[in-house]
Amino acid sequence: MKVNHPNQQASLSHSLIVGLILQYCRQENLTMVDSGYISPPRVPLCYPAHSVVDNLSTLPQTQIFPSCSWHSLCLNISLMKYCRFQLNGAAHYGLVESVAGSDVPGSNVAGSKNDNEEITRLLLQPPQHSDGDVEGLPSRRMDHIPLAQADLLPPVQPSKIVCVGRNYREHAAELGNEVPQEPLLFFKPPSSLLPPGGTILRPKASERTDYEGELGVVIARRCYQLSENDDVRPYILGYTCVNDFTARDLQNKDGQWTRAKGFDTFCPVGPVVADGLDPWTGVQVETTVNGGVRQSGNTLDFIFALDVVIRYISQIMTLEPGDLIATGTPKGVGPVVSGDAVEVSIAGIGKLRNPVADQP
Ligand code: MG
Repeated sequence: MKVNHPNQQASLSHSLIVGLILQYCRQENLTMVDSGYISPPRVPLCYPAHSVVDNLSTLPQTQIFPSCSWHSLCLNISLMKYCRFQLNGAAHYGLVESVAGSDVPGSNVAGSKNDNEEITRLLLQPPQHSDGDVEGLPSRRMDHIPLAQADLLPPVQPSKIVCVGRNYREHAAELGNEVPQEPLLFFKPPSSLLPPGGTILRPKASERTDYEGELGVVIARRCYQLSENDDVRPYILGYTCVNDFTARDLQNKDGQWTRAKGFDTFCPVGPVVADGLDPWTGVQVETTVNGGVRQSGNTLDFIFALDVVIRYISQIMTLEPGDLIATGTPKGVGPVVSGDAVEVSIAGIGKLRNPVADQP
């Protein structure tokens, strides 16, 4: 198995590996019986980026984790993250790494802070031009910038944003809707994109505006009319947080959703695009308003799994590299007003926080 890492020349630090193992022990309530297995010299101080799993696999892991495997441990690790940001008046894509192993990728939602992450390298080509291999893109060193202090932009530049409506059973029920028999699709325009921290503007035309926290999928390769036998994973570049902000009253009034979903600022996205998540084995999506939890769903509850969704969309339209798919929102949607702040959190990606204000 290949472990993706933002910098092929870099190594995973011993402290990061130990941090991952300790995190896993805490999650699984396991006791490390012999920490010597993860200490030098039995494990080298650093692991070459692409052989870390092989190195770990040689360890007698059953003596450390009786009920898991390195494979399952590493499957849940997101090691490739990138953002888009403004620096000296220009927009750049940058690779994002955890510092000191303290923000462990793959941690639970509550621990998915971006506080300990830094932008470490400039990508010299957009990730959507990498044919799925972001690691292989040319990059150059830069003075590290803490992600929390960066002037972030939306990490995607899609030709289109394809959204799935009512893809969680309990969300369909809470709005009094039938469960769809096939994926229900709609668009948001790219002009609705909003960066992390950007202010969502409630239009004067609407009296009820709702948050919808969702897992976003970024397309890696052009695809059209994928067959049942096609594996969709090579077509996925990574995942991000999306807030499918909605003028609920206009959605009900119009019958079709272009206006309700399409206002400028109605598509906050970010803070990063990350790989290593697995929606098929469960990704937790949580939304808070002013710190109070409003939505807490899991992609295991999708009505239509992600492979079904991607194949279905590809029967209709060509998906281009960089296109964004919003996979639907779990139950718990509700209104926000001026002065509120909405935060969408996904483990392995981080937190997408946006304040809300009335359009002046
Ligand atoms: Mg939605």
